[in-house]
Amino acid sequence: MSVALGSPRAELAEELDLLIIGGGIMGLSLAYNLAELAAAPAGRGASKLGTIDPNKIAVVERSYLVSGASGRNGGGLRMQWGDAGNVALMRESIEICRHLAQRLNINLWFRQGGYLFLARTESGERRLHRNVAIHEQVGAPTRLLAAREALELVPELDVSEVRVAAFNPEDGVVFPWPFVWGYAGQAVARGVSLRTHTSVESLEPASGSGYVARLSTGERVRAARVINATGAWSVGINRGLGIELPNHPHRHEILSSEPLKPFLDPLVVDLETGLYFSQSTRGEIVTGITMPDPPGKPTAEGVELGSSLRFLSNVSRALIRVLPVARHLSPLRQWSGPYDISPDGDAMVGPSPDHPALIQVCGFTGHGFMMAPAVGRLLARWLVLGEAHPMLTRWDPCRFRDGRAARREDMIIG
Ligand SMILES: Cc1cc2nc3c(=O)[nH]c(=O)nc-3n(C[C@H](O)[C@H](O)[C@H](O)COP(=O)(O)OP(=O)(O)OC[C@H]3O[C@@H](n4cnc5c(N)ncnc54)[C@H](O)[C@@H]3O)c2cc1C
Repeated sequence: MSVALGSPRAELAEELDLLIIGGGIMGLSLAYNLAELAAAPAGRGASKLGTIDPNKIAVVERSYLVSGASGRNGGGLRMQWGDAGNVALMRESIEICRHLAQRLNINLWFRQGGYLFLARTESGERRLHRNVAIHEQVGAPTRLLAAREALELVPELDVSEVRVAAFNPEDGVVFPWPFVWGYAGQAVARGVSLRTHTSVESLEPASGSGYVARLSTGERVRAARVINATGAWSVGINRGLGIELPNHPHRHEILSSEPLKPFLDPLVVDLETGLYFSQSTRGEIVTGITMPDPPGKPTAEGVELGSSLRFLSNVSRALIRVLPVARHLSPLRQWSGPYDISPDGDAMVGPSPDHPALIQVCGFTGHGFMMAPAVGRLLARWLVLGEAHPMLTRWDPCRFRDGRAARREDMIIG
């Protein structure tokens, strides 16, 4: 099967209804969902806001698809969050994922082996108890396990320090690349233009309304509305228009080991260190860990990739403590990608301060991949039908300026 992955030569209309900057999972999930709405039976894609024409939508990606965070992540999907809004959103995302391979006509390697959280301290134990109570209220199938029950799920674990564990069997892991390719292929098949290897150099307010985008090819494209889906690079696009949002990039490292015979079903998280590990369908152990920002104020120009010995040493020590058999493992590949960190842990999705026609879809820290199937759908419905989902209202980028930001989530890992 072949999928359209965009092209550096894809035609762009001079006058667009919507320009999506960034061909990561967020930009492409949105493009696909908009095109789906346009193809919906008469009435469903139309609204007081008008109809959407996929031929007037373009995605412009600076590099190749999967070059950003969407091609570099661990592929974990979970509804185990500490906030009821995030739990409900991720239930919806996981439900979408169950049928997405058929819709996108591509194998997503979606495996529901669950997420197993291990708590080794009293405060970790309290967090898991509190979360499971929230999950019970909203009907998520998360349950608390004693250490010996965790051991039944993964006999290779060292649970001598584990006070309690939490397990949700519907959480899982995917291979990220086909998600991106699948959304891209289906959006293009429905009429969306996907231009790769072209960056948006600047945005200027157009006379009347909308924006004129200046591209690295020298082209100028006018768009009634623009989506900033550039993740960790979004600060640069915003700064050009004088928009100050408090998100910042952070390098997150990850590695995969030599392949082993399959033995590990769930993705395991050690709450106290932020260590996570899963086994890929190829047998590799894929693992990462929370590492603080290096000293100094991070900037948009600070989206630095690359790998460090410090990470290799930290992750190895933490992994061997929880999974002692890992001491025999050799790392095969080590890489990194950018997190786009939002200070209150909530994403920024919606019109920008003083720029209502520039819509942000950024600030997803270490969990944008799993949220993208639901976010793309909700945002498309908001843009076309005017339906404002409560999470979109909560993620309003203006909340920082207006003093409405509030930290609700304590299960941000990595
Ligand atoms: C190592 C690692 C592990 C992670 N693990 C997980 C996980 O297990 N589960 C999970 O849900 N999330 C995970 N994440 C987070 C997740 O990958 C991101 O939240 C998500 O991919 C963000 O998608 P995005 O489309 O917003 O950004 P990106 O995928 O970064 O896409 C932004 C795109 O914009 C392009 N761009 C930038 N500037 C311009 C410009 N001026 N013009 C045109 N294009 C431009 C970039 O080239 C890039 O392709 C992880 C991230 C990393 C780095």
